[in-house]
Amino acid sequence: MTATIIDGKAFAASVREKVQAHVAHLKASHGIVPGLAVVLVGEDPASQVYVRSKGKQTVEVGMKSVEHKLDADTAEADLLAMIKDLNADDSIHGILVQLPLPGHLNEDLVINAIEPAKDVDGFHISNVGLLGTGQKSMVPCTPLGCLMMLRAHHGSLSGLDAVIIGRSNIVGKPMAQLLLGDSCTVTIAHSRTKDLPDVVRRADIVVAAVGRAEMVLGDWIKPGATVVDVGINRIDAGTKEDGSQKTRLVGDVDFASVSAVAGAVTPVPGGVGPMTIACLLANTLTACCRANSIAEPEGLTV
Ligand code: NAD
Repeated sequence: MTATIIDGKAFAASVREKVQAHVAHLKASHGIVPGLAVVLVGEDPASQVYVRSKGKQTVEVGMKSVEHKLDADTAEADLLAMIKDLNADDSIHGILVQLPLPGHLNEDLVINAIEPAKDVDGFHISNVGLLGTGQKSMVPCTPLGCLMMLRAHHGSLSGLDAVIIGRSNIVGKPMAQLLLGDSCTVTIAHSRTKDLPDVVRRADIVVAAVGRAEMVLGDWIKPGATVVDVGINRIDAGTKEDGSQKTRLVGDVDFASVSAVAGAVTPVPGGVGPMTIACLLANTLTACCRANSIAEPEGLTV
């Protein structure tokens, strides 16, 4: 079997188009412009790239983008004061603090200082609890993007066996809640799981969120299963002509062997990654609609 490639780039473009159209409608009918504030502390190069990309795409769909760049040694009290101001700012509907934070800052404290209704990353403890109890919440962007692609590919997910590899708070656990919400039978595997290949072989849906390059192999996959690769790993790809090192991005899934067995697979790059930022824009729009008691567009959240 040769797997269908689930094109996350094209899917993300369609989500952005939907967001853009609704933003235009909000402006024209209600005079409201959704606003997203992104706070970056320090100079982590990967975080800088993400923040730039988020800001650019926010503006492209017609929203207001505000970026706050703080020094790596910013005091916790100053960061909390900034979040308090953003919580009170009516022109800001979404607040995102780029993680990871420098070691002297307490991530839990900082994330839980964000007003839950503006917590477009869905990491605030209130949103975690709401999602876990099946109530309306802000849903973490990466798992939301995975769910959108799975729903689009399968239609109903009801009764399917899903195995999620990885139990992080930002991907694995919320992914499990979302798939449970769609009536899958969910298993969360992790670093202590016994006989991981055997567990994965039961799955109709596999979500790999581990951070280990090309770990999931074709002979772990049930023929015809759908495989969603969340991993982003930079690996050595030899040397350039000038002697410098080449790298390339790969997922947690060994694409060549898995795509020969699976029914469908998301590629890296071009799969989950673009959907994550598209879902951040969707969450900002959702937060804006909720703040103004305006109907939310269909299909952009759960
Ligand atoms: P994490 O390090 O917080 O969690 C990794 C999980 O993998 C842990 O729960 C651990 O138990 C499990 N694990 C580790 N080794 C294992 C093994 N040998 N067998 C089974 N399970 C194992 O990572 P995370 O933040 O959840 O991210 C996972 C990956 O997804 C990373 O590559 C990250 O870069 C990527 N990611 C991508 C996006 C995106 O937008 N595409 C967003 C978030 C994370």
